[in-house]
Amino acid sequence: MADYNAPLREFRFVLHELHDAPGVFGELPGFEEVDRELIHAVLEEGARVCEEVVAPLNRSSDEEGCRLDPEGVRTPPGFPQAYDALREGGWFAMATAPEHGGQGLPHTLEVFFEEMLQSACVSFSLYSGLTRGAYIAMSRHGSEALRRSFLPHMGSGEWTGVMCLSEPHCGTDLGLVRTRAEPDGDGGYRVRGTKIFITGGDQDLTENIVHLVLARLPDAPPGVKGISMIAVPKRLPGANGTLGERNAVEVSSIEQKMGIKGACTCVVNYENAAGWLVGEPHRGLQAMFSMMNHERLMVGQQGLALAETAYQNAARYARERLQGRALSGPAAPDQPADPIIVHPDVRRMLLTARAGNEAARALFAWVSLEVDVAERHPDPGRREEAGDLVALLTPVIKAYFTDHGFEACNLCQQVLGGHGYIREWGMEQLVRDVRIAQIYEGANGIHALDLVGRKLPMHGGRPIKRYLARLAGFLAAHRADPAMAEFTAPLEHAVADLEEATRWIGDAASRDPEEVGAASYDYLRLMGLTALGHMWARSAGVALNQVNGDNSGFYEAKLATARFFMKRLLPATGSLKRTLSAGADALMTMDAESF
Ligand SMILES: Cc1cc2nc3c(=O)[nH]c(=O)nc-3n(C[C@H](O)[C@H](O)[C@H](O)COP(=O)(O)OP(=O)(O)OC[C@H]3O[C@@H](n4cnc5c(N)ncnc54)[C@H](O)[C@@H]3O)c2cc1C
Repeated sequence: MADYNAPLREFRFVLHELHDAPGVFGELPGFEEVDRELIHAVLEEGARVCEEVVAPLNRSSDEEGCRLDPEGVRTPPGFPQAYDALREGGWFAMATAPEHGGQGLPHTLEVFFEEMLQSACVSFSLYSGLTRGAYIAMSRHGSEALRRSFLPHMGSGEWTGVMCLSEPHCGTDLGLVRTRAEPDGDGGYRVRGTKIFITGGDQDLTENIVHLVLARLPDAPPGVKGISMIAVPKRLPGANGTLGERNAVEVSSIEQKMGIKGACTCVVNYENAAGWLVGEPHRGLQAMFSMMNHERLMVGQQGLALAETAYQNAARYARERLQGRALSGPAAPDQPADPIIVHPDVRRMLLTARAGNEAARALFAWVSLEVDVAERHPDPGRREEAGDLVALLTPVIKAYFTDHGFEACNLCQQVLGGHGYIREWGMEQLVRDVRIAQIYEGANGIHALDLVGRKLPMHGGRPIKRYLARLAGFLAAHRADPAMAEFTAPLEHAVADLEEATRWIGDAASRDPEEVGAASYDYLRLMGLTALGHMWARSAGVALNQVNGDNSGFYEAKLATARFFMKRLLPATGSLKRTLSAGADALMTMDAESF
């Protein structure tokens, strides 16, 4: 079984030393009290809960999976008890508004807890993770009456929330949604249709589940401009906060799948189910984006979270497994062979995982703080700037982090050789579990299209200009520092590649949209690598200031990992720039029949 220890030292580095999270919170009304001690206390206790209560369920949830009984879906043994324990401990209400009974803590703190929860057992984390997104959508778009009757329950985790978009004939292209919602003459709606792949569509963790369903009203125009969001609870809210009768929401089957077996994936039929409109008619996709943007970041973080667990286990194994001798001569002459950590290729695999993980966490923390700033900063200009950065980097986090997560889990499985392929060690489960993150919440290719097609031209290019200005500002501030040259010089190349590629995309967009589509994935990877390079250069700057006088080895390891990233991973921006500008012909000339 794969073990997990929350990387609390890393968390402290990222939140306090790199980003000065308490300083950021100090500028945000309502968060002034969130200081180092509070952050530390929350994360330390969160780590204990994830390691002791949740992680032990990971293996058994994969073995036992979910099942569909006549009464509904049964989650794996231990899930209901663990869910209750976390709910009672207030872990699902950390960032819930105090008026809904929550603790009103920053989003950033909640997502650091989320990382631990996902590393410990990603299947378990999905029930509360989706609820969070549904809570956000309902808070932003629900009517006063809906908010009053739903949010205190959803905000505590007493009820869960799920997102219901996909239908048998429609996944990426939501303009094809067929589920219908007819007014019931009493201010509500009756929903008919079938949704597939609904994560948490039913479960035995909570008494109620709020389905946020995309459906068409009778007067809906065709396409995505005719979709509305309807809240369809499994049980109808009764008087005075009690639960009323069962709604016509039926799960007809659950999917057998490659991974995340503890998170049930349901086919849900709405058979004239009662529901209420959330937000405005025909503007359901906009309302759903409040949920989807949250979930996209969460799914991106899944890549990091599972890669972290994989790395921890592979690094431990590599220090213990004895095979072969170091090329430079025996490293452990008293042993029959050296530990495999001596071999350059094993180090390549471990460092690729580690360098991606640490920089991804640093970037995720930066973007999470910007989410808090975008919501609370008193200066509207600062809020706007933060919103731009979050919008630009969300598709990068979703796609780049999950690609990294899959690559890192694969590499770490490889470090265990044949044992990595055997169930007992838990590595093959990580590979299976992480794979879905590249697919759901929009397949990664769609995020690349979102980046080039929507985010680059957004507000006349303001987000990308602001981001490039931040990168340029960092380089200008550190270019003259000789100690930083080994980090800033490679970053300078990457930023130049990103600038050139961005100009190329802009030119191509006016020439031929197919060129942009063909370039989109490489462009997203280029931006992801550059963003991680920026985080590594910043991290190296902090480490250089601290390394003398530190005998824990923490900052030395930080610098060594930064050097690996700069020398072995970041130069790929050059080849990405060349491939993305190679044009669409190489992809598009072959006839469909010839495939
Ligand atoms: C385990 C699991 C859990 C899920 N949970 C949920 C959930 O809770 N709620 C929910 O609503 N859905 C859920 N989904 C559905 C998931 O979001 C979709 O599967 C995903 O968005 C892709 O849609 P699709 O499967 O229909 O693929 P398609 O849309 O058929 O796409 C197939 C491939 O074609 C590519 N493609 C499609 N259109 C384009 C285009 N215009 N340009 C370029 N490439 C394109 C895609 O990138 C993809 O690689 C889940 C799916 C799974 C497997």
